[in-house]
Amino acid sequence: MNRLWRCVAGLALAGSAALACADFPDKPVTLVVPFAAGGPSDKIARDLAEALRKPLGQTVIVDNTVGAGGTIGSARVARATPDGYTLLVHHIGMATAPALYRKLSYKVPDDFETLGLINEAPSVLIGKPGLAAGNFAELRQWIASNGGKVNLANAGIGSASHLCGLMFQSALKTDMTPVPYKGTAPAMTDLIGGQVDLMCEQATNAVPQIEGKKVKVYGGTSLQKLPLAALKDTPTLSESGLKDFNVQVWHGLYAPRGTPPDVIAMLNTALRAALKDPELIKREEALGLTVASDDRVDPAGHRKFVEAEKARWSKVIKDAGEYAD
Ligand code: ASP
Repeated sequence: MNRLWRCVAGLALAGSAALACADFPDKPVTLVVPFAAGGPSDKIARDLAEALRKPLGQTVIVDNTVGAGGTIGSARVARATPDGYTLLVHHIGMATAPALYRKLSYKVPDDFETLGLINEAPSVLIGKPGLAAGNFAELRQWIASNGGKVNLANAGIGSASHLCGLMFQSALKTDMTPVPYKGTAPAMTDLIGGQVDLMCEQATNAVPQIEGKKVKVYGGTSLQKLPLAALKDTPTLSESGLKDFNVQVWHGLYAPRGTPPDVIAMLNTALRAALKDPELIKREEALGLTVASDDRVDPAGHRKFVEAEKARWSKVIKDAGEYAD
């Protein structure tokens, strides 16, 4: 796509006569990922960066700004110059952090421009290779007899793995010991090494480890079973007795509040083009992800979705009495 075409497409979407798009982007664009390199969010961002290169006509760099369950990287983007060059790839944690953190330095979604949903990324409950339990029923018995001694890895308060772990403990009415990491990539290393017992992990990173028999798998966390060979003998947690257990992760793209409308429109046009990239679709579908294609790829639809998710999860989190400072 040439620059003029992009400019025209952007202006038509924004309904704006501003001319900023004539120069945008004239330098590399940075995608901030608020979790460790090698984890699910990082992989999704790197695939997206590659697919965005052509429609943007620029290099797209991934920068991991990690810690505090994704809130450090999010705060960085909320405070960045709103010129379209610093963007955020974040997941469901965008919508759950306001309820989980008493002191959050940014407002959701007010301090961001929603650029569009990227995908839906289901998770699975996985265990260290040495666990004797061969299925979820046996795992449940093992947890019941070991209670608080069971270590449950997560990527920090507000991460998808943390949220899923909370729901899991509440469904079992059992407390376990949470072990936070800066992302599920380092947590996975420890799970494989047997230093922690269990983790909810997005299919993005869990499926290759299940296929390689490096970890045990005990159930899908979405209501729908994933159509993947690696999971064909694995029921969902809901099917295994945790009725209606449903933690479905999603990722979206954000810019700081105040980014000019024509730049937002151009970024959205580029995102739409990237999400139609056959290579990206193939890679994501092989891992059980669904690339977004509905009205949530639209900035307004994405914003409405974030608001709805924030409201839904705020209630669940408050009922669970969970928060951090
Ligand atoms: N998305 C996080 C990561 O990439 C993991 C999580 O949220 O649980 O590490």
